[in-house]
Amino acid sequence: MSAGRDFRTAELVLGAGARLAAEAARFAGLGWMRGTSGNLSEVVSREPLRLAVTASGLDKGELTAADVSVVGPSGETVPVEGVEPRRPSAEAGLHARVAALTGAGAVVHVHTVNAVVAGHHWPAGVPLRDIEMLKGIGRLAHDDEVVVPVIANSQDMAELGDRFEEAHDAAVPAVIVARHGLYAWGRDLTHARHVTECVEWLLAYAVAVR
Ligand SMILES: [Zn+2]
Repeated sequence: MSAGRDFRTAELVLGAGARLAAEAARFAGLGWMRGTSGNLSEVVSREPLRLAVTASGLDKGELTAADVSVVGPSGETVPVEGVEPRRPSAEAGLHARVAALTGAGAVVHVHTVNAVVAGHHWPAGVPLRDIEMLKGIGRLAHDDEVVVPVIANSQDMAELGDRFEEAHDAAVPAVIVARHGLYAWGRDLTHARHVTECVEWLLAYAVAVR
């Protein structure tokens, strides 16, 4: 995603596709992308905003580098020469909104049970404090009040994006979509993975001790 590199090259997009496939297989192995659910993205260009996003309807444990598409700010497909068009996830529009608003370099969306259960118990946001794992999302282990926002689900990505924009906290790199799943992000794909793992751990903890 560095400036000067051209997102329109197949090499760059397929490189992102290979990283996304490897991460997806990891998350699928954790049981966080059941069926064909969930999707991952990586920003391949900031100006104009372009994301490489996992293709829709495929088993996330079996993606290849070619199972990727490039989308613009509204999740619309942007053709890339040398890359066979794949249908992007319907949720690509929200990935793009997250990347635009937060400056994230990568976005993870998984359907974890703990995120949905936590959203059920704390519809106004999941409160967390005084727990070591908060350091994994850039917060303090003590005396730091963290609330993971919860937004209502929608099949309309523009509406969901507006809810995200309204609810998101710049100091919390995750949002729960109620009765749906979790979005988490980071400066790159590896960081986004670590944030996702830590948020999921924190939500599991919150649900377990309530
Ligand atoms: Zn989803």
